[in-house]
Amino acid sequence: MKLIHSGKVRELYLDEDCDPAELLLVASDRLSIYDVILPTPIPDKGAILTALSLYWFERTADLVPNHVIGTERIPGEFAGRAVRCRPLEMLPVECIARGYLTGLGLKEYERDGAVSGVRLPDGLVDGSQLPEPIFTPTTKAPVGEHDEFMTFDDVVALVGGDAAETLRALTLEVYRRGASSAADGGILVADTKLEFGRDASGEIVLGDEVLTPDSSRFWPADRYEPGRPQFSFDKQYVRDWSSHLDWDRTAPGPEVPDDVVRVVHDRYAEVYRRITGQEWISPAR
Ligand code: ATP
Ligand code: MG
Repeated sequence: MKLIHSGKVRELYLDEDCDPAELLLVASDRLSIYDVILPTPIPDKGAILTALSLYWFERTADLVPNHVIGTERIPGEFAGRAVRCRPLEMLPVECIARGYLTGLGLKEYERDGAVSGVRLPDGLVDGSQLPEPIFTPTTKAPVGEHDEFMTFDDVVALVGGDAAETLRALTLEVYRRGASSAADGGILVADTKLEFGRDASGEIVLGDEVLTPDSSRFWPADRYEPGRPQFSFDKQYVRDWSSHLDWDRTAPGPEVPDDVVRVVHDRYAEVYRRITGQEWISPAR
């Protein structure tokens, strides 16, 4: 199989032995904090994120077709953390839905009173819930550059009016479905990023990953307190641990000791359990 893309956390292979060719989207166990990949893998992280994505693809299939083919015929080294999918012509928009204000969205609001051209009420603070979820698309910046907010009209200019409407509607529907379902497990989905593409027939299809801790902000509802940065389910423990080190938050990142790795693993397993309602069972390694 041909490696066609290597991201910070995932690899993309093309299987040309299939006809038509299929993609293999492989999630690694790598963890990044402050945009730096740590040298120590978190066991099961790739498998948990892959399982969560599959869980959501299945539970949104009535809203939007997706790229998943299945998890058969996965080479042993990728077992449990790879999905076969249809290659799509990806649309050049990061489709973000926000139900709460934080991060870059908050910065944009503090400067403009709006995010992606969507005007918001005065007086919102870090973590505020928005009156309703909003679509705040960004560009897909090349490696090393930052994604920038686009207005809805920018999206129209890029992909056309009908496609832009579809992207906005689908992004908000998938977000609403995910947020309401995750709330049952005590998780607030602050925001999430989706990627869509066109299949061979030109239809808009949901690709990439869906409602994982890498593509979304998940907050424990019982610790939610607007007006300050929120506790992050997955990475907070590593960030807190690293704050006691003499590390300037640039690469290379520090080695993570076993006891910290175990806690982080358990956090990912907890996210899985809270979302799916099933215990995470570690595959035999
Ligand atoms: P980063 O390291 O910042 O995440 P990245 O987004 O390029 O960089 P990944 O997310 O690991 O890295 O890579 C996944 C890539 O696969 C993305 O570029 C995404 O657009 C692309 N992709 C996802 N699904 C499909 C698909 N069905 N067809 C074609 N490309 C896809
Ligand atoms: Mg990505």
